[in-house]
Amino acid sequence: MRQKGYLTHQRKVILDIVRESEDHPSAADVIDRLKEKGIHFAYGTIYNSLKYLTEQGYIREIRAGDGVSRYDGRMEAHHHIRCRICNRIEEVYVPLPLNWLKQTEKETGYSVDDEGFLLEGVCPSCQAKLDSDKASTGSNDASREKEAFRAKERERTTG
Ligand SMILES: [Zn+2]
Ligand SMILES: [Zn+2]
Repeated sequence: MRQKGYLTHQRKVILDIVRESEDHPSAADVIDRLKEKGIHFAYGTIYNSLKYLTEQGYIREIRAGDGVSRYDGRMEAHHHIRCRICNRIEEVYVPLPLNWLKQTEKETGYSVDDEGFLLEGVCPSCQAKLDSDKASTGSNDASREKEAFRAKERERTTG
């Protein structure tokens, strides 16, 4: 176990917000939740605290594909899956085969220090929404929409 640093009152409050959030909040979400509780910290304090808490191993940072960092107070081994439509991030507790990591290190020459995976897909409620859109607008529109979405994704990944 890593030696953890001393937590100021502000850091402790921010840590509690992240720990009690089930949905992997972004810094902006943390700011909103503090406001809901009537707490107003400077933005810089919040960003610096999240960075500090991550570095000290109290929380972990998930770098989502959209460039917005999200934070997780659950430190036990697990992976994540993100819905590319509504952007929710959920926990994945399905373990990887034991030799998968070793094999990956062997084949790539990398030393892997973060085994957290971020998978992407479409969540059940967005799938249901896509299906009902398809039913009401006709399959051509729905597949055009999907195609447009994929094109946008490609644009984003190729810069
Ligand atoms: Zn979704
Ligand atoms: Zn998580």
